[in-house]
Amino acid sequence: MQFTDSPELAQLRTEVRDHLTEVMTPERRERIYRSGVSHDKDLIAGLVDRGWFVPPHLAEAVGAPVRTAVEQSAIDAELMYADAPTYLSATTMMVASVIHHAGTDEMKERILGPALGGEVTIALGFTEPESGSDVAAAATRAVRDGDDWVINGSKMFTTNGHIADYVFLLARTDPTVPKHKGLTMFLVPMDTPGCDAQAVWTLSGERTNITFYSDVRIGDEQRIGDVNAGWSVLNIALVDEHASSWGPHLARLLHHAEAWAHEKRVDDQGVTATPIDDPATRRRLARIAMEVEVSDLLQQRCLWMSGNGDMPIAEGPMSKLYSTEALERATEDVVEMVGPDGLRSYLEPTAPEDGMFEQTMRFSLGTTIYAGTSEVQRTIIAQRGLKLPRT
Ligand SMILES: Cc1cc2nc3c(=O)[nH]c(=O)nc-3n(C[C@H](O)[C@H](O)[C@H](O)COP(=O)(O)OP(=O)(O)OC[C@H]3O[C@@H](n4cnc5c(N)ncnc54)[C@H](O)[C@@H]3O)c2cc1C
Repeated sequence: MQFTDSPELAQLRTEVRDHLTEVMTPERRERIYRSGVSHDKDLIAGLVDRGWFVPPHLAEAVGAPVRTAVEQSAIDAELMYADAPTYLSATTMMVASVIHHAGTDEMKERILGPALGGEVTIALGFTEPESGSDVAAAATRAVRDGDDWVINGSKMFTTNGHIADYVFLLARTDPTVPKHKGLTMFLVPMDTPGCDAQAVWTLSGERTNITFYSDVRIGDEQRIGDVNAGWSVLNIALVDEHASSWGPHLARLLHHAEAWAHEKRVDDQGVTATPIDDPATRRRLARIAMEVEVSDLLQQRCLWMSGNGDMPIAEGPMSKLYSTEALERATEDVVEMVGPDGLRSYLEPTAPEDGMFEQTMRFSLGTTIYAGTSEVQRTIIAQRGLKLPRT
C-alpha cells in the first residue's frame, strides 16, 4: 500500500500547481465567476500544450503523451483545487470516451482528435423538463427521414450548451417499446438550424441552459451506437459521471478556513483573539480534515479498481455522494464558525478570504444534484453494491 507520492508524482503536482497559480489570476477568476461559464479556451490550450489534458485511456488514440491513471488523477485534483474552469472539458472528455468505445471509425477520425486537442467541445443533453433522475423517460424525439434524423424536443440544464460545438443528446427513437429500449444517442452540432439555447442561472451563479430542438435535421453519421441501443451507450458516460470526486473543493475550503482561523482579530471590546486558539474551531477544522482524507481515499479506491479493469459501479457513487455531502456539511460548519462575516459576498475585497465561504456554500448545493442526485447514488449503492432488492 502506498499513501505518499513518489518524487516524480510530487514534482508533477508542484508543476501543475505552480502553473495554475500563475494562470488563475484574480482577473481571470472574476471573469469566469461573472460569466458563470466554466470554460476558458486559453487556459485549456495551456493544459493541452503541457500534456495535462488527455486522459490515459484516450492518449494513445491521438498520439498524446500517455500518463498513468495516478498521474492524471493528480492533475485533475490540482485543477479542481485551483477551481480551474474545466467543466466543459470534463463533459467533452466523457463523450470522447464514449466515442472511443462506441463511435464509428469515421466519427473517431472526425471528432476525437479535435476534442482531445481542446478545439472541439461537447455538452451533455440528458435531462429534460419532465425527466431528470429518471433519465430513460426522455421524450425528445428523433425520427428517421431517409438518410437523416429529424429531432424535436427540449433539454433542461444543458450546461455550456450555448457555447459547445455539439450536444451529446439522448433521444427517443421508438416510443412503442419499454422506455430503456427505445433510446438512441446522437452528437448534435449546435450550429444546425433549429437548435437554440436559453440561459438558466443557478443559485451559485453558474449559467446553464434549456436547449430547444425544432425540426433539427442531422445525418445518420451523427448517431453514436446502434439505433435503440442508446441506454447502453449512455451508461458508459454515466459510470464516469457517477465516479466523480469533489474532495479537492473540500481541501480548498479547509485551506481557507485554516487561513482565516490563524488571523488575529480585535473584537468590539478591543480584545485580541485568534480563532485557532478556540478548541471549538480546532475541532471543526479537524472534522473537515478527516472528510478531505476520506474523500481522497474513496476516489483512490475507484482509481485502483479502474486500474485493475473493474468498474467502480457502487464505489464511484460512494465517492461522489460522500465528497459532495461532506462539502455541503463542511461549508455550513465553516460559515457558522466564521459568523455573519462568512456570508459576505464573493469577490468583496473586505470579506474574509475574498468571500469564498459564501460562494462555496452556494456552489456546494448543486454538487449533490448534478451527476446524479444523492438519492440516486444511494439507490445505486444499495441495489448494485449491496444487491438489495428494488423498492
Ligand atoms: C447546475 C446544474 C447543472 C446541470 N448540468 C447538466 C448537464 O449539463 N446536462 C444534463 O443532462 N443535466 C444536467 N443537470 C441536471 C441534473 O443531472 C438533474 O438535475 C438531476 O439528474 C436531477 O434531475 P431533476 O432536476 O429533474 O430532479 P428530479 O429527478 O425530478 O428529482 C427531484 C428530487 O427527487 C429525488 N428523486 C428522484 N427520483 C428518485 C428516486 N427514484 N428515488 C428517490 N429519490 C428520487 C431526487 O433525488 C431529487 O431530490 C444539471 C443540474 C444542475 C442543477
